[in-house]
Amino acid sequence: MKTPFRCAWCGDQVLPGDLQHALLPDYHYACALRATLGSIGHAQGTCSCYVKDGTAEDDPPGITRRQAAQLVADYVRQQQQPRSGRN
Ligand SMILES: [Zn+2]
Ligand SMILES: [Zn+2]
Repeated sequence: MKTPFRCAWCGDQVLPGDLQHALLPDYHYACALRATLGSIGHAQGTCSCYVKDGTAEDDPPGITRRQAAQLVADYVRQQQQPRSGRN
């Protein structure tokens, strides 16, 4: 891959070895998910697109953009886990 460059979402450097999204090479993997899916609230269906009380539209306060992206990536991973042997 190219030499380190700044992620188009969080602005942190994307370093060799960082996980990247195959279709969105300008981002960290997590940041690509955040940029395409929206905030963690949106991914979970609790943002104001779904909940009309105006809460939870944006990233949770007090964390970095990259941490907010990681929340979305973790959520997606949970959703994709096969539910084997457990109900
Ligand atoms: Zn990033
Ligand atoms: Zn939304």
